[in-house]
Amino acid sequence: MIQYGRQQISQADVDAVVAVLQSDFLTQGPQVPAFEAAVAARCQADHGVAFSSATAALHVACVALDLGPDDWLWTSPNTFVASANAGLYCKAKVDFVDINARTLNMCAIALEQKLDKAKRAGHLPKVVMPVHFAGQPCDMAAIHDLSKIYGFRIIEDASHAIGASYRSDPVGNCRYSDITVFSFHPVKIVTTAEGGMASTNDPLLAQRMQRLRSHGITRDPAQTLELNPGPWHYEQHELGFNYRMTEIQAALGLSQLERLNTFVKQRTELAARYARCLASLPLVLPEQPAWAQSAWHLQVVQLAAGGHTQRREVFDYLRAQGIGVNVHYMPIYLQPFWQTLGYPRGLCPNAEAYFNRAITLPLHPGLTMSDQDRVISALSEAIDAVRWSASEEGYL
Ligand SMILES: *Cc1c(COP(=O)(O)O)cnc(C)c1O
Repeated sequence: MIQYGRQQISQADVDAVVAVLQSDFLTQGPQVPAFEAAVAARCQADHGVAFSSATAALHVACVALDLGPDDWLWTSPNTFVASANAGLYCKAKVDFVDINARTLNMCAIALEQKLDKAKRAGHLPKVVMPVHFAGQPCDMAAIHDLSKIYGFRIIEDASHAIGASYRSDPVGNCRYSDITVFSFHPVKIVTTAEGGMASTNDPLLAQRMQRLRSHGITRDPAQTLELNPGPWHYEQHELGFNYRMTEIQAALGLSQLERLNTFVKQRTELAARYARCLASLPLVLPEQPAWAQSAWHLQVVQLAAGGHTQRREVFDYLRAQGIGVNVHYMPIYLQPFWQTLGYPRGLCPNAEAYFNRAITLPLHPGLTMSDQDRVISALSEAIDAVRWSASEEGYL
């Protein structure tokens, strides 16, 4: 099976992990702060705070911005469930802003219209969480402008987008947001097995996130209320979590980060080759605005015509050929759990229309050109086969 995404582990990665296993520290030692500093430097942010996962980082980011039961979090429906779950962990109310049908990211115009309505109804969001879907940056300047008018905070879910850039600046620099979150799950651009990172330029937010990831505890004498009772002293200041990253994970992340640019370059070249080779097929590929340089976490395509049934047939044909296609994403509010919370179908028509026609093709640095050729010819055959059966049944 040609997988849709896969990690790349080098001998240097293995050596880095083994060195930690043979060292004095497995949890809190030098690797975690070194990885935090390296990610912050790479994305030109002042602070990096490492977490056990991006899910944990998104949760703590929401807590650090004081998201609570009377508040609203708005995010994109076209994302992994973790983006929206973060709001529910804080007992906040969650709503979804439809995507732009061409870029598949949160639509700034839909956001403005929804904000205008919410303002009149008196329930503006406290936090808006744009998601850089497939690695392509959202229009952050437009969303940031709206935050100034309507007074909300911004968390970028950049789980797909480490190594991407927006208007020539790296995603994660937080120029247009309060906090940016990256994921290091194995299918993402660089991996720590499980792991995540929050970047920010606000020293108080960084401090609060550090405390929240470790039970709400601080050992920093500059922060403790009691003045120097002894070196054993620590204080719990609020209810936090155990969301720490280990030294083993951070060492792997540091080693992987050295190849971030190479990974993104390889992904970008494969994506450009898909765009060239798929151009003659009845497919729609996501539009890439000139101001956005994607990290190419995912290569998604939409079938140009027909509905559900046709996608199912094309998908099954590809899987039968050993092509590990996938679908990203079912709009979150259509998930059974979210349906029990009462979200109506049709809430975000663009996200639903995209979902019904979407297929994710394999894309990762280990994908060879001959693998990619197999994907392309199988897709072309699948589309022909579906067309042929449709015309036999008199649909075409
Ligand atoms: C993967 C992912 C997450 C969660 O990341 P974990 O590190 O697995 O917790 C959150 N948001 C998006 C958009 C993701 O793709």
